[in-house]
Amino acid sequence: MPFFQIEHPWAVTVQALAEFGYSESEAKIALNIFKNRNATSDREFVLRENQRLKEYMICKICKNKLCDTVFLPCGHRVSCWGCASLWEKSCFHCWKPLNGAVRILDA
Ligand SMILES: [Zn+2]
Ligand SMILES: [Zn+2]
Repeated sequence: MPFFQIEHPWAVTVQALAEFGYSESEAKIALNIFKNRNATSDREFVLRENQRLKEYMICKICKNKLCDTVFLPCGHRVSCWGCASLWEKSCFHCWKPLNGAVRILDA
């Protein structure tokens, strides 16, 4: 699939930024920062963030299934439904006694 890069003429950019109250010199500084962005570090950031979110979403017990169960009454979400069903005494995170668990269902 071809990629199209849309070049904004300098004047249009300055005019657009002026509407938000920025001066021409401020617009120039902002545009230079945008042009000099390091594509590699942007990509590394996205990959790191993706990894962090994956870890955030995974069960802290089996490290395999989706972390989709909230313990009650503490409210901590630390495990999948399967791991929560095997362990009914206390929260894996704060060790407070449990009186139930709720499975989160994405719509
Ligand atoms: Zn699990
Ligand atoms: Zn807890």
